[in-house]
Amino acid sequence: MRVGIFGGTFDPPHMGHLAIADAARQQLELDEVLFVPSNRNPLKATKSASAKDRLEMVRRAISGHQHFAVSDIEIARGGPSYAYDTVSELVYIRPAEYWWILGSDSLKTFEQWRQPDKLSRLCRLAVAVRPPTTLRDVQDRTSDWLKPRIDWLVLPPSEASSTDIRLRIQANKPVANLMPSTVLDYIQERKLYRN
Ligand code: ATP
Repeated sequence: MRVGIFGGTFDPPHMGHLAIADAARQQLELDEVLFVPSNRNPLKATKSASAKDRLEMVRRAISGHQHFAVSDIEIARGGPSYAYDTVSELVYIRPAEYWWILGSDSLKTFEQWRQPDKLSRLCRLAVAVRPPTTLRDVQDRTSDWLKPRIDWLVLPPSEASSTDIRLRIQANKPVANLMPSTVLDYIQERKLYRN
């Protein structure tokens, strides 16, 4: 089994996330991409929808995608969410070859994550370049020890961002093309991101 773990806040999930998951699945020949909404990202303070709502939005975003699944492993664990804890747990309960999927903005902070060296031996990293940076810039900034542990995903750069979507909703700007309609329906039903 080859499994990609896609960790994130998913507040809310957007088309950029789905494109990355799709590219990872195809390019790394993954059997599954497992979306793992964090309970709390220790390096990211802003979060506005509840864990339950973020989990449900991911569920809706991936419904109909045969090779995508969602796990509440970090939400159920509670507290701050560390990729190292999550991958260690998954390797134990469900042995497979794992990749941690992330954007290049997250890769920048990788060495501040819990046990980055051990984590990079438990799983490879699958990185999507996120504008405004370029592949060349990211590669130049990546530590030499980490480079051999990375698979670079090839996909059109996407400006999609959850922060931008939350701001657009507050400002009553259109967001329909930025996320699956199932997610937008849920946001409207639950009146999320309005205040
Ligand atoms: P925010 O805009 O609020 O920071 P986000 O759009 O980055 O949120 P997250 O759920 O935090 O959404 O992202 C999960 C993962 O997906 C992170 O590793 C992030 O780097 C990556 N990611 C999200 N959007 C993109 C994008 N447009 N291009 C590349 N990577 C992305």
